[in-house]
Amino acid sequence: MGGLGVPRLTDVNDALLFKWAFRFRNEADTLWKKIVSCCHKARFRYYFLPCNSNVGGVWKTIVSTIDGLKSEGRPVVFNLKAEIGNGDLVRFWLDTWLCDDPLYLLFPNLYEMETKKFCSVSDRLCRVGQQWVIIRNHFVSPMTLICDQEFTVMEQKIGLLSSDRNTDRWRWTEGGNKDFNIQAIKCLLQKNTDSQQTDFVLKWVNWVPSKCNIMVWRAEMGRLAVKTELIKRNIHVGTLHCHMCEWGNDSVVHLFTACPVAQEVWSAIGSWCRIRPIIAFEVKDLLQIFKEVEGTNWGKVVVHGIIVIACWYIWRARNENVFQEKKSTGRIVIANIKRMSFFWCKHRSKFKDLSWDNWLEFPLYMLF
Ligand SMILES: [Zn+2]
Repeated sequence: MGGLGVPRLTDVNDALLFKWAFRFRNEADTLWKKIVSCCHKARFRYYFLPCNSNVGGVWKTIVSTIDGLKSEGRPVVFNLKAEIGNGDLVRFWLDTWLCDDPLYLLFPNLYEMETKKFCSVSDRLCRVGQQWVIIRNHFVSPMTLICDQEFTVMEQKIGLLSSDRNTDRWRWTEGGNKDFNIQAIKCLLQKNTDSQQTDFVLKWVNWVPSKCNIMVWRAEMGRLAVKTELIKRNIHVGTLHCHMCEWGNDSVVHLFTACPVAQEVWSAIGSWCRIRPIIAFEVKDLLQIFKEVEGTNWGKVVVHGIIVIACWYIWRARNENVFQEKKSTGRIVIANIKRMSFFWCKHRSKFKDLSWDNWLEFPLYMLF
């Protein structure tokens, strides 16, 4: 808010865009919704709204803007909470429905074991009258102690859930106000703009070689020589497909966030560094993860460095695929990240006595 009490235009615009999210999830089969669903046949995946990332245009921009909106580091979409009817259109782990946050945040160890990360509530629960029960054979057994504890808490919460409706409905929950209105979103975004000004920004990591820092900086600006960028500059590249998975396009966003290789890497890094599961929609999200690391500044610096190195090795794997036809798997990339981050941290930071075994176990062990 400026000195004259006038809201920033981008906040107003974002708030208006957000209304699309609310309308899409809540409205019955209206014509506009049918058209969008038809053009973006990809089911709900990591985005809050269905979006086929190979189809460009206005809808894709709306979807990625909505998903990227944050207030004090928390995605604004988390404030849309589903009341479960049949559970078909609510994502079990990624949407907010049972508690005030999505289950992937509340039960990270169970989520880590989930093979279908964007499954729906009806994929994992079965309705008996007005109550819901967990379909147990979807949860791997035997479970570790921590998973077992998470499962017990989750089961108790689900036991308390009751539905008297047949279709899913979405409510706006922020500030105890159940009615969705643009004003509420504007205020929320405004809070974010105000707090951002004092936010701690960390970009360059000294213990990581410059080549990695520079590559990530270029990735953030969308200036890497991926095929979708080359074609914009009239450089003929043949098919646009990603070499690592062959279902997405060779774009910066796909490569670092949606590609299965990247997702395998982020999932492993999240649990290795013991931070919440990493879900990124753009490179910018990856570069903000360090903010969630609690404790000393060094914890943030180490995690941020590991993220930068991970981007570097994903990029290398992509280049080896394109230029040397070498198939890299997520496992190889993860092994490289762990090995080289150890090497660099030991030789380029103040932690000269790092032990490899402890590093492999938990890369922030020296701070505790
Ligand atoms: Zn891919």
